[in-house]
Amino acid sequence: MADKIQSVKGMHDILQQSSSKWQTLENRVQGILNRYGYQEIRTPVVEKTELFKRSIGETTDIVSKEMYTFTDLGGESLTLRPEGTAGTVRALLQHGLYQNSPLRLWYCGLMFRHERPQKGRLRQFNQIGAEVYGLKGPDIDAELIAMCARFWKELGIDNLELQINTLGSNEARRKYRDVLVEFFQDHKNDLDDDSQIRLEKNPLRILDSKNPEMQALIEAAPGMAEHMDEQSGEHFLGLQNLLGSIGIPFTLNPRLVRGLDYYSNTVFEWVSDSLGAQGTVCAGGRYDGLLEHFGGRTIPAIGFAMGLERLVELMSLSDAGEKDPQSPHVYLIIAGDSAFARGFQLAEELKDALPELRLLMHCGGGSFKSQFKKADKSGADIALILGEDELDKQCVGLKHLRGENVQSELAWTDLADRLKLELGL
Ligand code: ATP
Ligand code: MG
Repeated sequence: MADKIQSVKGMHDILQQSSSKWQTLENRVQGILNRYGYQEIRTPVVEKTELFKRSIGETTDIVSKEMYTFTDLGGESLTLRPEGTAGTVRALLQHGLYQNSPLRLWYCGLMFRHERPQKGRLRQFNQIGAEVYGLKGPDIDAELIAMCARFWKELGIDNLELQINTLGSNEARRKYRDVLVEFFQDHKNDLDDDSQIRLEKNPLRILDSKNPEMQALIEAAPGMAEHMDEQSGEHFLGLQNLLGSIGIPFTLNPRLVRGLDYYSNTVFEWVSDSLGAQGTVCAGGRYDGLLEHFGGRTIPAIGFAMGLERLVELMSLSDAGEKDPQSPHVYLIIAGDSAFARGFQLAEELKDALPELRLLMHCGGGSFKSQFKKADKSGADIALILGEDELDKQCVGLKHLRGENVQSELAWTDLADRLKLELGL
């Protein structure tokens, strides 16, 4: 017999037992985004390879070694999206969306990167991101960060540290880059292989190395502060003051850079210390130069993306004391063929009357006893019972499955009102 087919390495199923957590996460975050006036954009999972090369940058880890690129049957080079900004910018230019700026957008979806799979690092993963186009002041930087803080509050995730930094203007960064290259050239023998390559291609990224053996050298490297231009410095101070005024604590991390080429000015990350090596759950910053780079006009932009797998790991549904949003309120037990048609009708009537009701109708027949077992296992609060007797009397049995086990009888006509009351719908 052939070997069982397994899922692709680094690409995981989210099984039905854990999908509730995902739904809660997505619903809450998307709800908050809508409350702040952000609108959803959905772009294709596949784009032309060129798009990512141009927007993310050829020297980045993503483009140089992590992309799922293939030639389609028409001979065109396509790539599974590794992040969400490139597609959003493409859509923005293609549809002239910047005419309505400022634009506050969000997206949610699968991303693909051919990385070495490990805890918190997958090859297929989910991100929610938000992006704002057309605003250049620190007010919008602060709004995005405040929105993130609200995600964590309403998801019941605490102990995330907010780290912020500024990369300065493009010009300031170029100058700083030269200083860094000089410093690391002098310590070339202490650089690991990865950093040797980064020194040639993208020296700022050495500061982002996760290798513990590199940390002492990175600490010793000259900082950005002395090379900061006045405008970026003021912007950064403005952001800090706004965060202070709404009471969001932050840490200044002068070594914080981002993996992508197009960042300038504000950068930030939210980091957890309970996830091990892959502790960043949300990362973002400004990319004021990206649209211009695309041949568009100069439109300031800022955004963030968060990794949902890492957030799910941090979420504790039970702490929130909430019912699993997928478990039914009511399990409808129906015994006997003649009862089934009426039971089916009742179920549909209840769904008309109570749109919020989650009702699971028993299918597949079987004894009362076996159906009760299934009702129990379903996690429902209430079992409704319809057998031949109830059919004659035009009523159902109602039994609470949690707490005291008395069964009462209820006329069909009173059923919707009673459930509404009992379940608080
Ligand atoms: P790193 O330096 O850790 O590789 P990155 O700069 O590649 O991070 P981003 O592109 O900014 O990460 O992605 C934003 C967020 O998406 C990350 O903070 C993380 O939560 C999540 N993420 C990124 N790559 C992966 C992955 N391979 N698996 C799971 N989540 C990921
Ligand atoms: Mg990465």
